[in-house]
Parts: sequence; C-alpha cells; structure tokens
Amino acid sequence: QVKRSGKNAFRFFDPELNTHYRERIALENDLRLALERSEFELYYQPQVSMKAARVVGMEALLRWNHPAHGRIGPATFIPVAEEMGLIGDISHWVLEEACAQLARWRADGFEDLRMSLNLSPHDFSRTDIVDMVTECVSRNQLPPAQVELEITESMMMQDTAGVATKVKAMREAGLSVAIDDFGTGYSALAYLQKFPVSTLKIDRSFVRDLDGPSTNPIISAITGIARGFGLHLIAEGVEHAEQAETLRILGCDVMQGYLFARPGTAAQATGWLEAVPQPDLLRRPA
Ligand code: C2E
Ligand code: MG
Ligand code: MG
Ligand code: MG
Repeated sequence: QVKRSGKNAFRFFDPELNTHYRERIALENDLRLALERSEFELYYQPQVSMKAARVVGMEALLRWNHPAHGRIGPATFIPVAEEMGLIGDISHWVLEEACAQLARWRADGFEDLRMSLNLSPHDFSRTDIVDMVTECVSRNQLPPAQVELEITESMMMQDTAGVATKVKAMREAGLSVAIDDFGTGYSALAYLQKFPVSTLKIDRSFVRDLDGPSTNPIISAITGIARGFGLHLIAEGVEHAEQAETLRILGCDVMQGYLFARPGTAAQATGWLEAVPQPDLLRRPA
C-alpha cells in the first residue's frame, strides 16, 4: 500500500512500487466514477434452514463490473473506497438496492425472506446512519426485523463512533443486527451485552475445520452462546455435506455457503427462491 505523500524519493526508485502506485491511482479514478456509471451490482447468496428445507434469507454481496477488468470482488475495492471516503455513497447505494430487491421478492410472495447487508466501520461514523436505514426500510414497506445489518467484531471493539449506541438504536427501531465472522476477533462475552445484536454468523474458518468427527468445541461453544443469549445463528462458508450434517447435529440450523449456492445475480437468486425446496436442488454453481 503506497501513500500519496511522503517517501517520494524511495517510491520513484522502486519500479515495482511505481507500478503498484500507478495501478492504485487508476483504480481510484475508476472507483470514483463507478457509482454514476452504474458499475456496481449486488449478488445474493442464500441462507438455508435445514429444518424448513428452504431459503430463509439472502446476503447481499457487492460486485464491481469494471469495464476493462471484469467483475471485481469487494475485498479488492472496499478498502480503497474506505480510504478514499467513497464508502458512504457506496453503502447508501447498497442499502437502497438491497431494500428494493427485498421489496420485489416480497411482492412476488416471498414475504418471510430476510435480507442481510454488510456495513463498514466508516458507515457508523455518520450520525444519520440509523435514520438512513430506517427511512429506506419504511419507504420500501419492509418489516424492519427482516432487514439485517452485518457488523464485525473489530467494529465493536473500536467503538470510537459510538457503534454500541447506534446498534442499540437499530434494534430499538426493530432492525436485525448480526455479528459477521463471529469468533475471529476478540469475542468477549461482555460485548454481547453492550451490543444487543440479534444474530451470530459463525466464521467460515471454523466451518472449514468441521470435516472430522461430529464434535467441535468451538462450534459447540458458539451454539451455546447463541442459545444462552437467545440469538439467531448462521454458519458461513459451508462447502461440504459433512460440514452441514455436523453443524445440524451441533444445533446450527441455518447455513450459507457454496454447498447450496455461490453468490449469484438477482435473477439467479429468484430461481433459488422458486426452486423446489430441497437443499440438493439449490446446489448449482453460479
Ligand atoms: P462476508 O460478509 O463475510 O461475506 C462472505 C464471503 O464469503 C463472500 O465473499 C462470499 O462470497 C464468501 N463465501 C460464501 N460462501 C462461501 C464458501 O462456501 N466458501 C468460501 N470459501 N467462501 C464463501 P465476497 O462476496 O467476496 O465478500 C467478501 C467480504 O466483503 C464480505 O465478507 C464483506 O465483509 C465484504 N462485503 C461484501 N459486500 C459488501 C458491501 O456491500 N459493503 C461492505 N462494506 N462490505 C461488503
Ligand atoms: Mg457478511
Ligand atoms: Mg462473514
Ligand atoms: Mg467472512
């Protein structure tokens, strides 16, 4: 990562760093225009209940359809957008698009469906974040509980922008809030009292280790925490049937992962909602 200022002498004498720098400038210029050029697209990945044998939620995952480089994943450009101060506008677009899509699905009869979307730490530094979400949710006539904002543990730990207060306000407005990648940060139980979230998402690094016998202290501990605090639980990154079976036995019902579907376009996701509700039939590579 190259800073714009300082260390100039060094930068100009390192050809590799110079290339990085030029690529980064190009990326920044393109990113600045991506919104107005309508290059962003939301992909959706289903969250499947084993008990109900159907899709109960969708997570909205941002993609950038770059005119020259093709589809770019969020890990590449979200950090840049954050540094450039563009994340606020992008998050606003994500919120509007995800709410509009949930409203379309509800109009098609999928009235129980939940929509999850990811927020950045920077989103919590805006004082109007709660109003922005509640206004969008009510304008789209969505039941607030069916809109879930995903935050990460690191956002809870920093809490510089009064994240706890804003999470509380979101919950008081009836919205759902999930802790994404749960277990990877510093999951002090005290945080669960300070941040009244509704859902824990088990990080996929724990799910990945589940191919062995159907005992796993971490998963058991997390399901226990969820039960104790009365929280919904979702396992992320479920790729194999054995993992799904183990999770089910350990008490985790709702799952998300390549086993069921890779994130897909709104049209593909509509197909998953309409599919005969068998997990096997959802298993189509996008
Ligand atoms: P996340 O919220 O933890 O999302 C899950 C990521 O895991 C997604 O990557 C998804 O495609 C991937 N994934 C799902 N199932 C599987 C699986 O079975 N195996 C494996 N190996 N991976 C799986 P994606 O879409 O590239 O997103 C990466 C991260 O970017 C997200 O992690 C989230 O933190 C962030 N992100 C995505 N969309 C947005 C957005 O609209 N706004 C913000 N601020 N961040 C976003
Ligand atoms: Mg997420
Ligand atoms: Mg996650
Ligand atoms: Mg993750």
